[in-house]
Parts: sequence; C-alpha cells; structure tokens
Amino acid sequence: MKTVIHWFRRDLRVSDNVALSEAAKRAETVIPVFIFEDAFRTGPDVGAARLAFLLQSVKSLRKNLAELGHTLVVRCGKSEEILPQLCKEANAQAVFANKRYEPYAQRRDERIIGILNAAGFGFELFKDAVVWEETEILTQAGKPYTVFTPYSKAWKAKSIFAPRAKFPIRNPQSAIRNLESDSLPATPDEIGFPLTQKIPPGGERMALELLRKFMAGPVYEYGASRNFPAIDGTSNLSPHLRAGTIGIRTILAELKRAKEKAESGKRKAEMLANCDIFLNELIWREFYLQVLHNFPHVIKGAFRPEYDQLKWSDDQEHFQAWCEGKTGYPIVDAAMRCLNATGTMHNRLRMIVAMFLTKDLLIHWQWGERYFMKQLVDGDLAANNGGWQWSAGTGTDAAPYFRIFNPVSQAEKFDPQGEFVRRWIPELKDFPDDEIHQPWENPLLLTKSKYPPRIVLHADQRGKCLAMFKAVK
Ligand SMILES: Cc1cc2nc3c(=O)[nH]c(=O)nc-3n(C[C@H](O)[C@H](O)[C@H](O)COP(=O)(O)OP(=O)(O)OC[C@H]3O[C@@H](n4cnc5c(N)ncnc54)[C@H](O)[C@@H]3O)c2cc1C
Repeated sequence: MKTVIHWFRRDLRVSDNVALSEAAKRAETVIPVFIFEDAFRTGPDVGAARLAFLLQSVKSLRKNLAELGHTLVVRCGKSEEILPQLCKEANAQAVFANKRYEPYAQRRDERIIGILNAAGFGFELFKDAVVWEETEILTQAGKPYTVFTPYSKAWKAKSIFAPRAKFPIRNPQSAIRNLESDSLPATPDEIGFPLTQKIPPGGERMALELLRKFMAGPVYEYGASRNFPAIDGTSNLSPHLRAGTIGIRTILAELKRAKEKAESGKRKAEMLANCDIFLNELIWREFYLQVLHNFPHVIKGAFRPEYDQLKWSDDQEHFQAWCEGKTGYPIVDAAMRCLNATGTMHNRLRMIVAMFLTKDLLIHWQWGERYFMKQLVDGDLAANNGGWQWSAGTGTDAAPYFRIFNPVSQAEKFDPQGEFVRRWIPELKDFPDDEIHQPWENPLLLTKSKYPPRIVLHADQRGKCLAMFKAVK
C-alpha cells in the first residue's frame, strides 16, 4: 500500500503500537491522525480529569511524533465523517487502528468499516491493548470464564511474552504537508469542563518513567505494600493503560526483566512471587475486558440478573455525603476526598468505599460506578464495572454478598497509624492513632474537630444489607 492513515485512539504512543508498526511495515507513507470526537464532550461519563489527561497525552504524542519527523493531523468532529474525507484528501488506501473493546466503540467501528469500504477504502483493526482478548481464552467447554482464578491460570498457560511492536522512522514530513489540522482545546475548561483536580501528568514518557521506577524496586515488595494506601507501592499505570500511553507488551517485557534480575537476588523466591502478584493484576484487567465482551448486559445491570431485583435505597443525602467525603467514617471520607482532589484512588480504598456505598448505605452500585467514571483519571468501563459489581456482590467471581467490609477494621489493618486519613482529613489531625479510625469514641474531641458524625451505624446497616440480599435469593 502506498499510504495508510493510522488513527490514534486509546493507543496514544509511538512505541509498542501494533497498528502503527503494521502501517509502517506495509505502507510507504503513514499519516498519523487523532480525532477529537464530539463524544469526548457530550458522552454521559465525560470527566474533566480524563479529558485533561487525554489532552496532555495527545500533546505529548504530537511532540514524540515530531521528533521522528511526523506531523500529527488533528481533526475535531465525528470519525464517521472525518475518516473518509481524510482518506480522499491524503490519497490514502486504508485506515489502520487498534481495536477497542467497549460495545459502543465496536458498534461505531462496524459503521466505519461499512462507510470506508463503500467509499473504496480499507479499514483494519489490530489487537494491541491486551495479550488475550474477547474469546481467546475459554473454558474446556468452550465457554467464557466467569471466575478469575481459573481464568488467570489459563491465561498464564497460554501466554508467551510477545515482542514489542516497532515503529520504524520512515515517512518524510513532506508527505503530509497539505493536510490541515484543527486545534485542540488546551484544557478541558475551554470546552466547559473545569478541572478542579490535580491529576497525574499524561504522555508516553511519563508512563515509561513510572514503569522504570516501579520495576526498579517496588515490584519486589508489591504483594505486601499494594494494600496500604499511605505507601506508594503500586505502579500508578492505570491512567496510562487506559489512554494507551504505554503498551502491555512493554510492561510484560519489563516484568520479565525484573524477574530475571530477581534470579540473582537473595530473596529470589519472594521477589519472584511479588512479580507474579503484579502480573495477576494485569490479568484482572483482561479478565474484566473479556467479561464485558461476553456478558455485555453488565453495562446495564447486574451480572447475576436476580440481583437486579434488589431494593436499593435512594437516599440522596447519604449519596451526597459519600461523594463529598462526609460520612463520618474517616477511611471512606479520606478516600473520597482524595478522589475528588486528584482523580485517583488506591485499589484497597476503591473496594472499601464501594462496599460502604452498597452495603452500608445500601445505595445502588450504579450510582457509585457513574460517580467514579466522572471523577477518575483512569475511569474504564470494564474495570470500573467489574470492580463495582465485585464489591456489591452482584458480579462475576463476586465477593459473596455476605462478605461485608467493616470500614473500621479495614482502616486499622491497612492504615494502622492513620497516615492516609490524616493526609486528607485535617479535622482529625489531633486524634491519637488508636482513635483516628473511630473518632466517635472520643465525643469531646469529635465535637471540637468539626468532623461530621457517622451518618449510619455499620452494625445496623450490615443486618439490613443481609436482609436485602436474602430477599432476592
Ligand atoms: C470499585 C472499583 C472501581 C475500579 N475502577 C477502575 C477503573 O475505572 N479503571 C481501572 O483501571 N481500574 C479500576 N479499578 C481497579 C484498580 O483499583 C485500579 O486498576 C488500580 O487501583 C490502579 O492503580 P495502579 O495502576 O497503581 O495499579 P497496580 O496495582 O499497579 O496494577 C497494575 C495494573 O493492573 C490493572 N489492575 C489492577 N487491579 C485491577 C482490577 N481489580 N481490575 C482491573 N484491572 C486492574 C490496572 O490496569 C493497573 O494499572 C477499580 C477497582 C474497584 C474496586
């Protein structure tokens, strides 16, 4: 082929990009294109944090491409209309892109295939974001997995570490000199989404830097430290995996290298085990993506449909208190204030606040799912839906409904000195370690602190939750 358009979507990177390197292999000229879709500003889950991260990452992509002699063509509008037009303008024979896994994105891609083919252009999609997709890992009976542990075993048994995709420097700037670009908004504020959060920086270089830092040490302690929100013990790669500013093969290659290094370490077995725990988390991501594909009804309701009959509470005041971090339970409130201020939340805390919303406040998991999508910089349909349904006890591989986290004992276990809570709830700074997670035990200090009293009593709500679930069993 003479000319191919590479359409960047959730793959905002130059390195380890399957469709981009295929385009470079098969075409004389590759035209890199990013479309700022109308849906970025009109979709139901649009959040300033994700939008800002996306804009930063596109900016960084443009710079990285420029260093390789390529100009990123940016267009704003609807991809269905822009792509055939661009193919004509650029005299391109085809559009290449990496596959998306959300049902709405797949429907859009099907429409685009039809439109491009009808106009005489090709459209090819490549597997890039995952190692194994959709129906590539099935049970012996040929069915999709609904439980994580056997899925992860099958995933590991099947997996070979695929090499990273290469992007050779090929086409000269002159090849695309006639293609005009639209300007992107500099910030989400410009298009009506004021950013109030201090989010982590986007871009491919930042992702590679985070990966290098994590693999240089924290990965060997991951199993122990990953549960403690006050410790920076996880990779922080989720926004990058979501935006595609890092490739999964790059992460796996670095993990393999970390394992090889561990081979000569004194704590070899322990270090290797920690690397494997990290691998498991990456497999969770693919597990939920295949759930989304094989059981798309999870977008609209419970994975187990009987749980759609649950009689959830619609207490708006409770929901508001949860959103604002004013429930009176310090670990829940610290986590929510952190989310509201940074667009991020530690995994342990996501489980705690999700259980609290669904099993203490008895509010529908979809309310929480939606709120998370609006706030999170890594908000991802598959992982978020999976995490919420897991916590609510309505999902695949779910913590059974009768497993209910106690927010106080969770806090005492995973934030023993109250370090994380003190970071986000200045009102509680004067409480001693042994009272910080249950300030109601010290009513005098609580009144002085101005920290809100508990909006519900965990012990009472636990009973109500069990009754609510039993009613539909
Ligand atoms: C209620 C709830 C909602 C969640 N919403 C999201 C979401 O919108 N987007 C998102 O990426 N993750 C979500 N998670 C999963 C998890 O909390 C985050 O992936 C993790 O906190 C990101 O931090 P990290 O990159 O440092 O993770 P690490 O611990 O370093 O893990 C490495 C990578 O593995 C993947 N991963 C880890 N845990 C999970 C998991 N349980 N499910 C799926 N993938 C996982 C992520 O891509 C992550 O970046 C949610 C979990 C819960 C309980």
